[in-house]
Amino acid sequence: MITLWVNQTTSCQCGSSLADVCGEPLTRLLCHCEICQSVYQQAYADVLIFSGRDVSLPDDHAIEFRRHRLPPALTRGACPQCRMPVVAFMRTSPFHQLAFVPRANFRPETMLPGPAMHIFYHRRVADMDDAVPKVDGYFPSETSVLVAVTKALLQRRPEPVAHARSRRGKR
Ligand SMILES: [Zn+2]
Ligand SMILES: [Zn+2]
Repeated sequence: MITLWVNQTTSCQCGSSLADVCGEPLTRLLCHCEICQSVYQQAYADVLIFSGRDVSLPDDHAIEFRRHRLPPALTRGACPQCRMPVVAFMRTSPFHQLAFVPRANFRPETMLPGPAMHIFYHRRVADMDDAVPKVDGYFPSETSVLVAVTKALLQRRPEPVAHARSRRGKR
């Protein structure tokens, strides 16, 4: 299996808001919802989802976080300068949250997985002529995302734990 490990500082379009990403993307989505259309100022958003712990922000960041909808909505962080998205967080349990980072914020040459699906496709501005699965409807879209993310999390080998254990065994 190809793992696409990422370790880089992502940046908004003007370069003044940064987010460090270190980890493997759980999935990649093309979201056609109306909030993404307005926030991204595009027909749809192209985002990568990571475990929240894989994304960290500088201590002195000025990113403005806003909730656009009641839970389970995202808390979306935008750059105060260019207004473009930097990172969004969604809590999935008291111990875990997901982080959404725009594809455009990674360096162009970065190896990233292809999009897994179009979601909120019923809100599309234009039909997409591609082989990527398309999900219509609010709940089917949200459910498909959570299923994809859960599958990706379950496929993860618990490497840090195994590593810690084997080290402890050597003592
Ligand atoms: Zn910016
Ligand atoms: Zn959206």
